[in-house]
Amino acid sequence: MKVGVVKENAPGERRVALVPEMIARLRDAGLDVLVESGAGAAAWFADSSYAEAGASIVTRRELLEDADLIVTVGRPDDQLVAGLAAGKAVLGMLNPLADPAFAAALAERGVTAISLDGLPRTLPRAQSMDALTSQANVAGYKAALVAATAFGRYFPLLITAAGTARPAKLLVLGTGVAGLQAIGTARRLGAVVSAYDVRPQTKSEVESLGAAFIELTSVAGAAGGGGYARELTADERQAQQAELTGHIARHDIVITTAQVPGRRPPLLLTDDAVKAMAAGSVVVDMAASPLGGNVANSVPGETVVTENGVTIIGAGNLAATVPTAASSAFARNVSALLLHMVAGGALAIDTSDEIQAGVVIAHGGSVVHAATAALLAAGTAGGTPQ
Ligand code: NAD
Repeated sequence: MKVGVVKENAPGERRVALVPEMIARLRDAGLDVLVESGAGAAAWFADSSYAEAGASIVTRRELLEDADLIVTVGRPDDQLVAGLAAGKAVLGMLNPLADPAFAAALAERGVTAISLDGLPRTLPRAQSMDALTSQANVAGYKAALVAATAFGRYFPLLITAAGTARPAKLLVLGTGVAGLQAIGTARRLGAVVSAYDVRPQTKSEVESLGAAFIELTSVAGAAGGGGYARELTADERQAQQAELTGHIARHDIVITTAQVPGRRPPLLLTDDAVKAMAAGSVVVDMAASPLGGNVANSVPGETVVTENGVTIIGAGNLAATVPTAASSAFARNVSALLLHMVAGGALAIDTSDEIQAGVVIAHGGSVVHAATAALLAAGTAGGTPQ
């Protein structure tokens, strides 16, 4: 089987799905690797490095003709999809729950679609394949740096001849993978960090990183299935927003990461909460999306300064801005999943396997992923209104 690595062309995307280090491992499993010329350039992996590792450097046209399976980071572009013949496969972050129609389009073309974001993440043997975690780690780290760069003061306590600077007070809302990494990074930069999550079981993880965990009296825990949060009811949401507002106003910097699978991100910083913050405060909304984010009026990929002087950064694709580390981790996840799914040098689709049942979205002309198929049948996607 020939595995093809595309050059990503979404705006701002600098990652690549496979890095040279992984080529030998795939070749050992009987896979040939074709790399579109320039695929790794934006992440500082030269064509020559892939070639030295045993890959063939090809044009996009050759890639489409010769590769049996194409690996991507994000959703493949329309031109690539149009060039995929029946029987070929594509593996990447296809986000089928947000975009089930895309999964259906691939199925109609007879393309096998494999999506890393469907992985059963709590399964120990799937951890090396968990790209959501690897990319959230990178993004959480970068969110703390983005906040530090936008902030007009220091993060650490600094005592100098020119005076003493008090440490920044930073609040992280949502302490999953990205939130915990943001806490660790902000702590290393010297900020005083507090954090809150609607899943109370994250308290010990937060405290082990040296941050204080905030407990709200108005909202009981809201753990859902698979280690995720459930969506709050309208009453819970309002009570949470109101109680958080007081905490938010006492911080210089807020980083928000809250997500609920298959739903719009919950609104945590209302307009009133932002208005209550002091001039010079910084908010990084890692959940900013076209559907809305955790912060009122945040815009993905854009920075807005409010009338009261609060800088709201709608984080775009932060993992793509640390491309070498993010690609290396992503490539390890892709390779681990591929090696799990390959037998005798070819893809062996078997949805009775728990991992494959999560990641195989389309195969044999149909959408086989249960949750995606259910969304298509219901004619809905992308969650409920706030
Ligand atoms: P996520 O990106 O879905 O959400 C980020 C955080 O937002 C979560 O901690 C969630 O509880 C929180 N959140 C949602 N609604 C909120 C609200 N209204 N207010 C405050 N916080 C809210 O989560 P994630 O980082 O992808 O991971 C979620 C969980 O899955 C974590 O517990 C993680 O440890 C677990 N996980 C486990 C494994 C494993 O067992 N191997 C692997 C990956 C993830």
